Amino acid sequence: GRVLGIVGGGQLGRMSAIAAARLGYRAHVLTPEADGPAAQVSHGVTVGRYDDHDALRRFAGAVDVITFEFENISADGLDLLSGIRPVHPAGAILRISQDRIAEKSFMGENGVPVAPWHAVENRADLDRAADALGYPFILKTTRLGYDGKGQARIHSAAELDHAFDTLRPHPLVAEGMVRFACEVSVMVARNARGDISTFDVTENRHRNGILDISLAPARIPPALAAQAQELARRIATALGLIGLLGVEMFVDHDGSLRVNEIAPRPHNSGHWTMNACPVDQFEMHVRAVTGLPLPPAIRHSDAVMKNLIGPDDMALWPEILAAPRLLAHHYGKVEARPGRKMGHVNVLFPAGGLPGEFGVEAALGPLATPPADDAA
Ligand code: ATP
Ligand code: MG
Ligand code: MG
Repeated sequence: GRVLGIVGGGQLGRMSAIAAARLGYRAHVLTPEADGPAAQVSHGVTVGRYDDHDALRRFAGAVDVITFEFENISADGLDLLSGIRPVHPAGAILRISQDRIAEKSFMGENGVPVAPWHAVENRADLDRAADALGYPFILKTTRLGYDGKGQARIHSAAELDHAFDTLRPHPLVAEGMVRFACEVSVMVARNARGDISTFDVTENRHRNGILDISLAPARIPPALAAQAQELARRIATALGLIGLLGVEMFVDHDGSLRVNEIAPRPHNSGHWTMNACPVDQFEMHVRAVTGLPLPPAIRHSDAVMKNLIGPDDMALWPEILAAPRLLAHHYGKVEARPGRKMGHVNVLFPAGGLPGEFGVEAALGPLATPPADDAA
């Protein structure tokens, strides 16, 4: 089979399609947007909604193997697709990652540490969760959250009602607030033979709930980095993963790791691999789902990735292209709405040569965060 079906038309699908083309595969995407980021670079497109069973059937019939960049397809849709063509990662894995309670339960069953949590089905559950967790804590919808949407930080009992009313009627989960030293992630790939390739640990910084900058390798002790990779491998194996999985973790202030969430697809925090690795996360993903060998996840350079978000960052695009060290990636989105991921840049450094804070900012050139007025 030479046609890779991708459910979802966004930037992750776009970069997966480009990687597939490099390996001689044609990508065919299912997307509601006829001219979105993935459709623009794909050989075939089925235009339709993810809950349109006719569209799902036509899509599946046009491809040899199916994967995802859009994760929130319904259980029905998944069953329909997997009745027609092989689906990787399997629907059972998506169902775990779609639901924070299923996800945390799975981690618990497999000895993977997570933040303390309580399911919240009604207002009384929320009071009990607050008593058990203490303040502050975080209330999240169990499904469909991204970029920090669908969650509220609760600092005192006075905020309980408002948070509950804002996030209802969705099912909710309360999580203890982790006082993390930093956030990291690990991209791990596994194929049907059980071969595993694990990328180096990434350090992540968020701004307004959205990933802003990733640094690779994470500036954490080597033993801790090895533990993070081991946790990612344990999760991939326990899931029986065929594909690539991003695992988000907190490095707690006591130096222990806690898994925050998983995404069974290429992950924004793995975009640095596009320029710092001979085989990047997208190619590794395509190889895993199409049954090709998995090369080791080698990194030849240190790297910093910065997301280009909304119209403000995109206004700098001409300067970004002119800056000698910025390796630019454009997602082909026409409209730069605020908060929308429009592209990213990577900056490479010699292996072992990731600079300190000022060096990172300097290397970002036109994208460097301007100094505060009083510091200028
Ligand atoms: P994504 O875009 O990564 O899918 P999301 O909307 O699914 O985001 P989370 O990853 O659960 O949300 O949370 C977003 C961010 O909020 C985390 O990266 C972290 O910075 C912070 N956060 C979430 N849960 C906790 C927690 N229990 N303790 C401390 N910080 C947290
Ligand atoms: Mg998430
Ligand atoms: Mg997250």
